[in-house]
Amino acid sequence: MSIVTSFELLKYRATKIVATVGPSSRDLAQVSALIGAGVDVFRVNMSHGTHLEHAAAIAVIRTEAAKRGTHTAILADLCGPKIRMGRFAVTPTTLLNGSETTLTTRPVVGHAGLIPSQYAGIATDVQPGDRILLNDGAAELKVLSIAGTEIHCRVVQGGIIGDHKGINLPGVRVSAPSLTDKDRVDAQFAVAQGVDFIALSFVRERADVESLLALLGPEESRPAVIAKIEKPEALSNSTEILDVADGIMVARGDLGVELPPEQVPAAQRQLIRLAGRHDKPVIVATQMLESMITSARPTRAEVTDVSNAVASGADAVMLSGETAVGAFAVETVEIMSRIVYQTESYQWHTRPRGARATRAAEHGDLSAADAVASATAQLVANTQACAVVVITTRGVTAALVCAARPAAPVVVVSADPATCRRMSLYWGAVPVLDLATGQDHPNILARRVVQRVGLARPGDFIVLVRGFHADPNLNTPTITLLIV
Ligand code: PEP
Repeated sequence: MSIVTSFELLKYRATKIVATVGPSSRDLAQVSALIGAGVDVFRVNMSHGTHLEHAAAIAVIRTEAAKRGTHTAILADLCGPKIRMGRFAVTPTTLLNGSETTLTTRPVVGHAGLIPSQYAGIATDVQPGDRILLNDGAAELKVLSIAGTEIHCRVVQGGIIGDHKGINLPGVRVSAPSLTDKDRVDAQFAVAQGVDFIALSFVRERADVESLLALLGPEESRPAVIAKIEKPEALSNSTEILDVADGIMVARGDLGVELPPEQVPAAQRQLIRLAGRHDKPVIVATQMLESMITSARPTRAEVTDVSNAVASGADAVMLSGETAVGAFAVETVEIMSRIVYQTESYQWHTRPRGARATRAAEHGDLSAADAVASATAQLVANTQACAVVVITTRGVTAALVCAARPAAPVVVVSADPATCRRMSLYWGAVPVLDLATGQDHPNILARRVVQRVGLARPGDFIVLVRGFHADPNLNTPTITLLIV
């Protein structure tokens, strides 16, 4: 048997690309090039920068997307109770193996023997024997004793620390709420800016997500909420979190510090499966093409990591520093897009179609809506249909159909620009804004739209799905097989 490594590329990329905005990517020329290279969703990281800078970046993205006629979405990522060190007399500073140091909540200028923490609650949250990880795990402390504001520690793993680097407390119940005062202000800013998604950091349980939902108001008009899974508690509570969140992010940066890093791949695979069973999108994030911050070419391991995330069913893959501060932001998106295309084309040419449609047989517990979505995927496989068309108001039906992973693009037709932008995060969705949605007969509309986006020619089969509502009691689902 000979090994084939190159496959005819599919017309559309199903897995979406999220790129973080920053100094390397927020002027008009860069945003334009990044959209051209394949960015579907821009992430505005509220951990860095000012509201003025974020508002300017959002305005540039909206302007450029309007000019190009794309449905590029914006995700505002709240920083959450990230615990950080204060400032040091010399940064970076080295901690030596076996030495002793004190972590203090007093606002001092630090050195190797005295490390300032900006989070006052740390002195009451930790106990003797607990582990404290500094700078993404570059150094590790063990708590020896606590006296008021001072936590005396031994350095069990020496390493480099510095100004404002992170502190992680694996296994410690942190008392700070997931939604901090800063997050509340940032969330209100993001809503005022009309962002499409808000991501909540360091979610531990369902109530954390509910507190953000309460702040955002009615479901019809609020941004979608993405729960970032980056703490072991969130893994234990992931089903309850997925019950209330609109989607999740596998935030591997902090998750890989809080968990032994070798456990992250298993967490990622299970979270992708679980999100799929909830019909909700999942973003795989962090260090996907990290070396491209400074290098024009990725490592082979990074390429394989992106490909594996795609193959295991993620809705989206995310870039952080690569596009925010990297020297090769556009090139990074281009290579990520090429990896996704190759992986999906390989799967298309080598795998039986309608993969997730077997969920009914596997679990036997599908809701009526899921069963319709699953039947749609099966019909696409059996007829080799070129596209699924979903006519939708808020994307409820489209989300279900995308989650069933049909072997054809899901053309999501909506008269609402916000729905089109939201669908930019969903696997397989090709959003199309069509203001005639309520006027033309659905069959005519479907035939017209698939030809407009170049997905079908006369004589091809397409599958039309409609009739789902936010209120399941109003559902009248229909699946129609059409010849263009
Ligand atoms: C992460 O930890 O992987 C992550 C995405 O969060 P942040 O970049 O905000 O640390």
